[in-house]
Amino acid sequence: MSKQLKLSFLSAARTLGVFKLFRRLTQSQLRILCYHGGAIGDESEYNGKLFFSKKTFEQRMKWLREKGFNVVTLDDAVKSAAGQRASPPLATVITFDDGWYSTGSELLPVLDQLAMPSTLYLCTSHVLEGTPVADVAARYIIWKSELKDVTLQGYALAVDGQYALSAAPVREQLGQKVAAWIEGFGSDKVAASDALEQFAKDMQVSSADLQLGSRRFQYMTGEELRALSARGCAIELHGHVHRYPKGDPAALKNDLRLCSESIQGLGLPVPKHYCYPSGSFDADAPVALGELGVVSATTCIPGLISKAENDQAYFLPRFLDGRDVEMLEFEAEMSGFSEFLRRVTGRAASPAYS
Ligand SMILES: [Zn+2]
Repeated sequence: MSKQLKLSFLSAARTLGVFKLFRRLTQSQLRILCYHGGAIGDESEYNGKLFFSKKTFEQRMKWLREKGFNVVTLDDAVKSAAGQRASPPLATVITFDDGWYSTGSELLPVLDQLAMPSTLYLCTSHVLEGTPVADVAARYIIWKSELKDVTLQGYALAVDGQYALSAAPVREQLGQKVAAWIEGFGSDKVAASDALEQFAKDMQVSSADLQLGSRRFQYMTGEELRALSARGCAIELHGHVHRYPKGDPAALKNDLRLCSESIQGLGLPVPKHYCYPSGSFDADAPVALGELGVVSATTCIPGLISKAENDQAYFLPRFLDGRDVEMLEFEAEMSGFSEFLRRVTGRAASPAYS
């Protein structure tokens, strides 16, 4: 179905009161929403899943309030899904992944205004390094550049060379090489920023366009995270590094111990909920997470939650919102109508691992 046809169909369904009906039918089920950073400049156009407009976020949150959704903490939601406590109708959890500076500066103020609690799944290595996230910033520069080809010299042996930028695989390869080179500077903020500025210059992207000073490619500091926590945003686990070690439960446990220690080292409460980096997981997760005392884990598979007993709590569905999601599609998803459509058309994703 084309997007236009889908939107016309959803619009008709909404007019006929179908969304309202589904909100009633599914009011006892839990929803979990996923966002990442906010947009300070044009980074939402570059990656609309990673950077979300404050204006659209505000529109979404106000709609939730208006339609009777009750935003609850993740902790309360997991307990009610496990049958340990009652939850209000249309209970919804708002989550943010990663720890972007713009999550705190752009999106959290909207929740503050509406007195809505939230959860931030924090990837701790980027907080400790404090540098711009190299792969995201390098890819942004490549996206922003209008060059058709470029010759790089004086970087590193692996980076130097000629690149035909009209080919997507070449752009991706260049992004990876430049990111690996910058990551080599570790937590040296000046060296990492200088390297990005140099790359931007060679790609004919100005410093004003790159806006490194706005911190749009950086994470929050410990102090900012503590302030966030005090404002009702629980800080939870997203791994120390942003990669799920498939088939290696020992590595998963090491990574999560490091992540938990880092969160506690920042003066924050002991975390007990996890979110799979890039939505990647495997069959080893429940045992490894259970041994660490982690009580839930969220995926990026959309769906509503009726109950979360035993292993189900480690594969909780979650809707990844983004710039590509029209308001009408968001309303259909949150009303439970989209999940119904996925089920009747056999397109509902299984929350089980693959
Ligand atoms: Zn992430």
